[in-house]
Amino acid sequence: MIYFDNAATTKPSDAVIKAVISGLEQFGNPSSLHRLGLEAEQQREQARKIIADALGALPEEIFFTSCATESSNTAIFGAAASVGKRKKKIVTTSVEHPSVAACCDKLEQEGFEIVRVQPREDGKIYAEDIISAADDNTCLVSCMLVNNETGSIIPVERAFAAIRKKHPQTLLHCDCVQGFLKLPIKTKKLGADIISLSAHKIHGPKGIGAVWIRKGVHIPSLLLGGGQERGFRSGTESVPLIMGFGAACGELASTVGERFEKVSRLRDRLVRLCEQTEGIFVNIGSECSPYIVSLSVEGLKSEVLLHFLEQREIYVSSGSACSKGKKSTVIKEFGVPDKLRDSVLRISFCAENTEAEIDELMTALREAQSSLARIR
Ligand code: PLP
Repeated sequence: MIYFDNAATTKPSDAVIKAVISGLEQFGNPSSLHRLGLEAEQQREQARKIIADALGALPEEIFFTSCATESSNTAIFGAAASVGKRKKKIVTTSVEHPSVAACCDKLEQEGFEIVRVQPREDGKIYAEDIISAADDNTCLVSCMLVNNETGSIIPVERAFAAIRKKHPQTLLHCDCVQGFLKLPIKTKKLGADIISLSAHKIHGPKGIGAVWIRKGVHIPSLLLGGGQERGFRSGTESVPLIMGFGAACGELASTVGERFEKVSRLRDRLVRLCEQTEGIFVNIGSECSPYIVSLSVEGLKSEVLLHFLEQREIYVSSGSACSKGKKSTVIKEFGVPDKLRDSVLRISFCAENTEAEIDELMTALREAQSSLARIR
C-alpha cells in the first residue's frame, strides 16, 4: 500500500499505539483522589509537558480538547464572547478549514462583520492584506498557517506581529493543524494568542486535540461541567489519547528539520515529474509546505482518479475538490482555473514515504491519462 493522504490523517506510530494501550490499562480517572487517579494525572501531565515543549509553550497554557475543531470553536466563540462584546469585527481568510469558516459564518449571522482576506491573482495571501483588514473594532484575527488543500503557507507571523503592534486588544488565533511538527513552529515566533492543534495529523490518535492559550489571555469555556482542565474544559480527560498525543510529539519534536528536508525532496521529485508530463499540473507552485501537493490531471475527474489509484493500492485525496458534487471554494479561491478544478488530487506526505512511491504514483497517473474516459 502507498499512503499519500497524510493531510487527512496519519498512521499512528508503534510508540503511540503502545502509549494508548498503556493508558487504557491504567484506567484511573485523573480527578480521582486515590492512587489510580494520581497515576492517570501524572501520565496526563507528562504528556502535557512534552506537547508544550514541542510548541515552545508552558504546560499550563495547553488545554486538551477532543480535536482541533473543538479548539478552533473554543477560540472563535470565546473571542466573540469576550473582546467581541465591544468589537464586532473578525478578520479571517477565505481559505480556512470549515472548523474556522463555519464559526465565522455563524457569528456573521449573529451580527459580526466578517472580513475574509482572499489570495491575490498569484494565488498567495499577503500579510499586508491581513494587516490592513484589521482595525480598532477587530476582536479577532483567525488565520491558518498551512492550508490543508494546497499546502500554501500563510504569512501569519508577519501579519500577527504588525496587528499586535497596531491593535493590542485584538485576539490572534492560528489553526496550526497542518503545520505543527512539520514546520518549525514556536509560540514566541508565531506571535498568536491561541493555537489549535490535532494529534491525528502527526501520527497520534484521533479524537484528541489541544488549544494553546497564551498565559494572561482569558476566554470563556465552551464546555461547562466538572471543571476539568483547570476549569477551562469540562469533561473527563481521555488519558489514553492524551498519552498517545504526547508520545507522537515526543517522537517527532527533534526531527522537524530532518523530516522537512526529506519530504521536500519527495515534493521536488513529484513536482518535477508533473512538469515533465503533459496534462498534469501542480496547482500552487511556491511558498507551500512540502507535505502537501495539489495537482490536477486535466480532463479526468478527481473521484474517478482517486478510485483508479485506490485499485492500485495508492491512497490519495480528491483535495476536497468535489465535496458532495460541489467544487471546492478553497481551490477556486487559490485561483485554480475552472477546467482544472474538477481534476484536483491532493497528495500529502509523511517522512516514511519514498521516492519509489512517487514514481509508482506517476506511472499510475500516466496510465490513467491513457485509459480513463475524459470529462466532457
Ligand atoms: N484544521 C485543518 C487545517 C485541518 O486540516 C483539519 C483536519 O483536516 C482540522 C482543522 C480539523 O482537525 P480535527 O480533525 O482534529 O478536528
